[in-house]
Amino acid sequence: MHFDHTYAQKLSDMVSQVRISPLLEPKLALYNEQLAEEIELKNEFSQADTLFAALFTPDGCLNQQGVAQKYGGHQFGGWNPDLGDGRGVLLAEAVTEKQQSWDLHLKGAGKTPYSRFGDGRAVLRSTIREYLASEALHNLGIPTSRALCLISSKEIVYREQPETGAMLIRACQSHIRFGHFEYFYQSNQLDKLDKLFNYTFQQHYPSFLDHENPHYSLLEQIVLSTADLIAKWQAFGFCHGVMNTDNMSIHGITFDFGPYAFLDTFDPDYICNHSDHNGRYAFDQQPGVALWNLNALAHAFTPYLSIDQIKQALTQYETRLQSQYAELMGQKFGFKRVSNHDMQLVNQWLALVAQDKRDYTQSFRLLCDENLNANKLADHFIDRSKAQNWYQAYLARLAEESIPKNERLMTMKEANPKFILRNYLAQNAINAAETGDFGECERLLKVLSNPFDEQPDFEHYAQTPPDWGQSMEISCSS
Ligand code: AMP
Ligand code: MG
Repeated sequence: MHFDHTYAQKLSDMVSQVRISPLLEPKLALYNEQLAEEIELKNEFSQADTLFAALFTPDGCLNQQGVAQKYGGHQFGGWNPDLGDGRGVLLAEAVTEKQQSWDLHLKGAGKTPYSRFGDGRAVLRSTIREYLASEALHNLGIPTSRALCLISSKEIVYREQPETGAMLIRACQSHIRFGHFEYFYQSNQLDKLDKLFNYTFQQHYPSFLDHENPHYSLLEQIVLSTADLIAKWQAFGFCHGVMNTDNMSIHGITFDFGPYAFLDTFDPDYICNHSDHNGRYAFDQQPGVALWNLNALAHAFTPYLSIDQIKQALTQYETRLQSQYAELMGQKFGFKRVSNHDMQLVNQWLALVAQDKRDYTQSFRLLCDENLNANKLADHFIDRSKAQNWYQAYLARLAEESIPKNERLMTMKEANPKFILRNYLAQNAINAAETGDFGECERLLKVLSNPFDEQPDFEHYAQTPPDWGQSMEISCSS
């Protein structure tokens, strides 16, 4: 592995050099050894003193060439040109032996030229939430930025109330957002837009340079990977909460975690963001919002593509989303091939789970129970007869494909997690961490590293929330 700084060097007029402001009494609270291994950081930074020397001393190798990136974004539908890394620093790109490049990005690094009125800090609560969620999603097979380590501290940071400051190093292919392209297009800096496109091709999609129309290939790739991502969010019941275009990655990964939630009770209209008064980012709005965001991004492609070409790329979104979603749902129900007719059965099931306000994850997992019968299923619901009728239709559908039951249940269990990161579980881990005990974070991470396994010793982590943990209001402040 070696460190590179291609974004900072090749796009030097689109970034600002930033030095990290150290935190008071930093502690290496969580360290993701598996990811460190993957990035070939090995044990270099697993010791607090070497990591802190690299980050916090003026000539430290992770501090010397750090930059804040400039971008803009559509926030709740309105264009905001004044965004950028206001508290984040792109430290370096770690390039592995196999030439895989990972951005290392520090969140909570202190003020940057894009901080506006913010303090440049991140609180322990939100860094833990990001750490847990990115690892939970990754283990479910949902593309996401990853968490490399979390640094806690004694620094006081003021939000609605005083909290402790923390830092998180996250890693992903790149931090290029829809909002990067939008910014240079909207501000009419077309030479910079061109440089950003060229950089993106060279660094991330070199094969597109051989295509007849590289810009078309890129837009199409972003459209398709976004559709794939949203299909997974919808299938696993993940609600992002702040799908502003500055929080959308061009790599189709889950990115910039805020007041997200994994659904407990299935409520299609669920709004996890306390500040989202109109439900713009409600669970069932996510597919439409992602397309809206792709449309916003597509404006930046207009200097290169005709309107027809843009339409052609964007129209692929819906078909791809539907086919990916159908495939995932097919796996969840144990169908090998999924037809339109099957989707009726899927939708009837979802309507039943929503109508009776059942837990999304537990309801699906029940379908993998080897002793399931009509009565047992009816016991799970309030509307017993509806549940029984649905089950008869389901059995008839299963009979159309002769998959041995054991085999079917095994594959279904791999599509229906037993363990998800429920908000109350994250809150328990945060409460303990705020007293300096990261044991609960570690335990939760361990459970969530095998979300599809039975793990009988951790049965209680599969439970629905206690009263205090139901419909928790997650503050947007972080
Ligand atoms: P977020 O809600 O984290 O996606 O951030 C939206 C914008 O606000 C980005 O430009 C962030 O860098 C900036 N921002 C958020 N929190 C802070 C903070 N505490 N200090 C400075 N900038 C911030
Ligand atoms: Mg953001």
